[in-house]
Amino acid sequence: MSILIKGGMVVTQNLDRKIMDADIYIDENFITEINRNISVEADHVIDARNRIVMPGLINTHTHVGMSMFRGAVEDMQLDRFLEKTFKLDAQRTEEDIYYSSLLSMAEMIRTGTTSFLDLYYDEHIVARAVEKSGMRGFLSWVTLDREFTTQKGEPLKNAEEFISSHRGKERVVPSIGFQGVYVCSDETLLKGKEIAERYGVIEHMHLSETRKEVYDYLKKKNKRPVEHLKEINFLSNNLVAAHTVWLTVREIDYLGQSGVSVSHNPVSNMKLGTGGAAPVPEMMKRNVNVTLGTDSSVTNNNLDMFDVMKTAGLMHKNDRWDASVLPSQSILDFATINAAKALKVSSLLGSIEEGKLADIIILDPFPSGIPLKKENIVANIVYALKGLNVTHTIVDGRILMSSGVIRSFDVGEVLSFMEKI
Ligand SMILES: [Zn+2]
Repeated sequence: MSILIKGGMVVTQNLDRKIMDADIYIDENFITEINRNISVEADHVIDARNRIVMPGLINTHTHVGMSMFRGAVEDMQLDRFLEKTFKLDAQRTEEDIYYSSLLSMAEMIRTGTTSFLDLYYDEHIVARAVEKSGMRGFLSWVTLDREFTTQKGEPLKNAEEFISSHRGKERVVPSIGFQGVYVCSDETLLKGKEIAERYGVIEHMHLSETRKEVYDYLKKKNKRPVEHLKEINFLSNNLVAAHTVWLTVREIDYLGQSGVSVSHNPVSNMKLGTGGAAPVPEMMKRNVNVTLGTDSSVTNNNLDMFDVMKTAGLMHKNDRWDASVLPSQSILDFATINAAKALKVSSLLGSIEEGKLADIIILDPFPSGIPLKKENIVANIVYALKGLNVTHTIVDGRILMSSGVIRSFDVGEVLSFMEKI
């Protein structure tokens, strides 16, 4: 299949962050030409005049199987929140997880996310939903010590089985996850790391999300979590650490030196009353690769990455009493090329360039951000636009949504399942 996108303003996110008026030709899965006035026959021609064409957003921390609990666990601190969600989770059927995942994917496709990094058990069910939806799913099977888990069988074994049975698929990329240091012994962490290295996959974990988590750990181990993880040689450029709110400057240095990527989740953190703000400006100065995530729709309560980009900017400018921190361009980088780097796919995703995979979104900026001007388009993407401005979502050269309507699967089927429960 071929697609020709005509006449849009293209925010490439390439090395020069070039913004250009150009057509884009997609042949099968790849972007093959970016140029003015491409005249070639294509199976689909999309008129993008007065529209923004940009790389699909990449959400680096989700739990897509939980969307059926949206609004069900409110106004609680993280420890009580986890207690209640673990209980709800334990009662669920395979169908519940499948349709919850599809519901999350409908929301992500509708709001311009093309790839996501998930952390959950039962990722084989999420993988089925990824196949159905047409999205790109980076799926981390979560592990933890056996005495804390509600998953059937041995978590590390389950993760390894999931990775070995899902390797080599096109849009499903398996990896290993860890719930957090509060339920993972050193043995679990290091065995998991060994599995990741053996299969060449990434690692994904919650880390230093709340002050309580850090101080409980200090009491137990006499070390802060990141200090300890460095000491046991767990940190590496294979790791995507979600939250990382409560860090010292020394810990940020350790993350930067080890090449760890972080997933900053400002909406979820504020909603759970985490307090303070993750030290993102310091992370940027110390070479930590910063990306953005929504977290689950239970703590967010949506999966709209445009909301997350805007909130990130607002949070840090206000926290530092300084409007110059976190420029819009950096925030857009977090949600595109930095995320691709964290997932080890920067040669394929994260920007619109010839030879890269065709994961592209198109936005109608009306009424926000009109008129389109190159000099302010990035700020308007971050602060003026919403996920609902997205009209087209293309993943792997396939149109999953056009004119605001999801075409890749029957959303009605998902909604009627949700009505029954
Ligand atoms: Zn999470």
